[in-house]
Amino acid sequence: MSVSLDPARAALKSVFGYDDFRPGQDEVIGAVLAGEDVLAVMPTGSGKSMCYQLPAVVDGGLTVVVSPLVALMRDQVGQLAHVGVAAATLNSTIGEEENGAALRALRDGSLRLLFVSPERLSGDNFLSLLANAGVRRLAIDEAHCVSQWGHDFRPEYRRLAAVRRALGGPQTIALTATADAATRADIARELFPAPPRVLVHSFDRPNLMLRFAPKEKPRSQIEDFLARHRGASGIVYASSRDKTEKLADWLSGKGVRALPYHAGLDAAVRANNQDLFLREDGIVIVGTVAFGMGINKPDVRFVVHADMPAGVEAYYQEIGRAGRDGLPADTLTLYGLEDMAFRRRQIDDKPVDEERRRIEHRRLTAMLALAEGAVCRRQTLLAYFGEESGPCGRCDLCREGARLVDATVDAQKLLSAVVRTGQRFGAGHLADVLTGNATEAVARHGHERLKTFGVGADRSKRDWQTLARQLFAVGALTTASEEHGGFGLSEKGEAILFGRERIELRALAEAAAPPRRSRLG
Ligand code: ADP
Ligand code: ZN
Repeated sequence: MSVSLDPARAALKSVFGYDDFRPGQDEVIGAVLAGEDVLAVMPTGSGKSMCYQLPAVVDGGLTVVVSPLVALMRDQVGQLAHVGVAAATLNSTIGEEENGAALRALRDGSLRLLFVSPERLSGDNFLSLLANAGVRRLAIDEAHCVSQWGHDFRPEYRRLAAVRRALGGPQTIALTATADAATRADIARELFPAPPRVLVHSFDRPNLMLRFAPKEKPRSQIEDFLARHRGASGIVYASSRDKTEKLADWLSGKGVRALPYHAGLDAAVRANNQDLFLREDGIVIVGTVAFGMGINKPDVRFVVHADMPAGVEAYYQEIGRAGRDGLPADTLTLYGLEDMAFRRRQIDDKPVDEERRRIEHRRLTAMLALAEGAVCRRQTLLAYFGEESGPCGRCDLCREGARLVDATVDAQKLLSAVVRTGQRFGAGHLADVLTGNATEAVARHGHERLKTFGVGADRSKRDWQTLARQLFAVGALTTASEEHGGFGLSEKGEAILFGRERIELRALAEAAAPPRRSRLG
């Protein structure tokens, strides 16, 4: 099926005042106008709303838009009214009068777009009112809310399939910016009677430089990075409130205009810090993930993760706050064993069923693979969102390369040390045993008598810690013990230890190399 986009393009100009479609919009709008059921996955800010607004203007009829965000619905209704499109919202937060006007427009058939919350759609009376008015199209915004495994599950979204049936099965469009393969499959299954046309617009942000580095001296790593971006606005994300404050203090002492931001700060302080960041140049916000939602500052030049993000989607969203103006922006993500172990424990401790736990672990593994990966970061990142691409030339691995080496023998030494010490110890102790470092702890446990004591003396302690981290990232090591950072062997670890499986890892000297010092560009 294909339709001419000319009338749509004309309406885009005459009604909305835009000269042309944004990338991806034409394809979605074309499919919508051709009558197809569509699942559109497009990054935030790409103009998803237009994908149902414009067809409603071009085709006439009534489009019901489901959105969980009341404030956003009201914004859209306001903007549509401004350009002369009949739109209304019905929800419990607006007055009788406004609701009354909306209902009248609905009955007399003049309404083009009706925005409703999913809760509002649950009443039978309201549904039959809508069915009688005749719904031409159902648009479901933030469609990932239907996925139980997503970070934003809303039970009311589960009822939307029934809503669609009650409305006589109109054409349906689902839109979201958040969709890994599992979420997408969920949306398709839950919201559509038959597989919809799935249109994914590129998630690539080519102007973002992507870098990762293992934590070595995290504070000086951050300081070095910031020194390359003196006077620029940026964000440093840290995993705890306490850490944001300490890091902001420390950076201030180094002459950086750094301000903390987290949900626990006094509201006035928080608002003031955010305000300064928005208004002035060269402020660095050191915040928790609470910072950034709904903030649109186009010239953020860098984003640093002082701790590894919870997952690839969070990572993508957070680095995405840099370089909205399209000019080059830089990102750096620091990660360490503690981060990895912490995130794993978080998932293990969640009161969820095994299926969900498995999916969350898989998501975390994707994050670890991105951090410890050996091929282009962007390729790995885009592949996570279902996009194929070639090496980008704008990430640390493309710039500096990573050499893969067969690490089976070293891995066996380390895994053997894990087993012989009873699967209870962390990377530091294991490295001491392997390098033959007779520390007090080694002596106390009698580990200097082990066969593995000193078998790895040809490498540094840091090399062994790096190897442990890589093995943990690929899932050969698990956090078996309650003790902080204690490692156990997974099935994969056993397969490597007993020679059933070989393993390639990043060459150690490179894995431990400090981040690049040269400038961006
Ligand atoms: P999303 O929902 O994908 O985050 P929005 O639908 O809110 O994005 O659109 C983001 C902004 O882009 C809005 O201000 C919208 O008016 C604008 N926009 C949408 N389509 C176009 C276009 N074709 N040309 C220019 N601006 C557009
Ligand atoms: Zn690359």
